[in-house]
Amino acid sequence: ARRADSGGIVVIGLGRFGCHLAGSLTRMNREVLAIDRSPAKVQRWSAQLDRVVQADATEEGALRQLGISSFGRAVVAIGASVEASVLTVLALVELGVPQIWARATSQKHAKILASVGAHHVIFPEAETGDRVAHLIVSRLLDFIEFDDDFAIATVRVPESLVGRTLLELKPEERFGVRVVGAKLPGERFRYTSDDTTLPQGGVLIVEGGIDQVQQFAGMR
Ligand code: ATP
Ligand code: ATP
Repeated sequence: ARRADSGGIVVIGLGRFGCHLAGSLTRMNREVLAIDRSPAKVQRWSAQLDRVVQADATEEGALRQLGISSFGRAVVAIGASVEASVLTVLALVELGVPQIWARATSQKHAKILASVGAHHVIFPEAETGDRVAHLIVSRLLDFIEFDDDFAIATVRVPESLVGRTLLELKPEERFGVRVVGAKLPGERFRYTSDDTTLPQGGVLIVEGGIDQVQQFAGMR
């Protein structure tokens, strides 16, 4: 068995979100300690995950006994009970876990988690909802948003721009976006240069302000 150390990640709460997270981390060869207070959940996931233990994570003493303070990161994936999620974050703060991630289910929940000391607050329902809205409406193939105003997206080459080079096109001046990568159908992405020609049927990696990226993606 791998030794618990600062590379390990504690995942607390094996609901739908927590078990997907713990499963992905395990497939990425990370040492995961999963905790749930429900014996049935522990039983159910013990075959798929390396270490699953039953404990009430709101109890600082229970977490201490599990050696949680030697882990570098913990994710509180409890959603439905705001109280349990907040008390768990508090216990992790008391134990001095350096990076605490916590899942919020509402804006107020998010605020409380941050004020109690969570270092990263995630809001999967809201984030996924936003992301999918962008994907549905704007012909983006994939989309990541940073700080509400910047985005990186993959976009099909707009019809009207096929065959033009980036030098001619000056996307930064004309559209306020940078085209950083391009790929031909069936090939891999490559970095662009001034003489990159936008390929018919190709896909681009575009970065810039969200509105600009949306506009660029929406061009015919
Ligand atoms: P999801 O949407 O991810 O399925 P949920 O919001 O439906 O989650 P929750 O009630 O948040 O479900 O529970 C997620 C998991 O967290 C459950 O398996 C539950 O047993 C566990 N859990 C809740 N409270 C605690 C606690 N105090 N200590 C440890 N685990 C807990
Ligand atoms: P979330 O995790 O996004 O909060 P949930 O899984 O907790 O969703 P659901 O029970 O899936 O909640 O319900 C989501 C919404 O879909 C609810 O507002 C519900 O009223 C609505 N809904 C459920 N069934 C139908 C239906 N047959 N037609 C239209 N709306 C529906």
